[in-house]
Amino acid sequence: MKAIVDPNLCIGCTQCAGLCPEVFSMEGTLAVAIPGDIPGEDVPQAVAAADSCPVGAIRTEP
Ligand code: SF4
Repeated sequence: MKAIVDPNLCIGCTQCAGLCPEVFSMEGTLAVAIPGDIPGEDVPQAVAAADSCPVGAIRTEP
């Protein structure tokens, strides 16, 4: 699974980076996800972080 943060939607609330720092980090005022496949053990937390984004800025792909 991959995760992509839409920089046009992210409001920089830091929630995803707080919930799943293995995958999401803040780059300036916006969040970014690690490129490429998320390690299997981090997938549940990454999905939880994506679901918790208040503006739906995190898209996941298989
Ligand atoms: S939770 Fe959503 S709005 Fe908040 S920093 Fe992450 S991507 Fe941006």
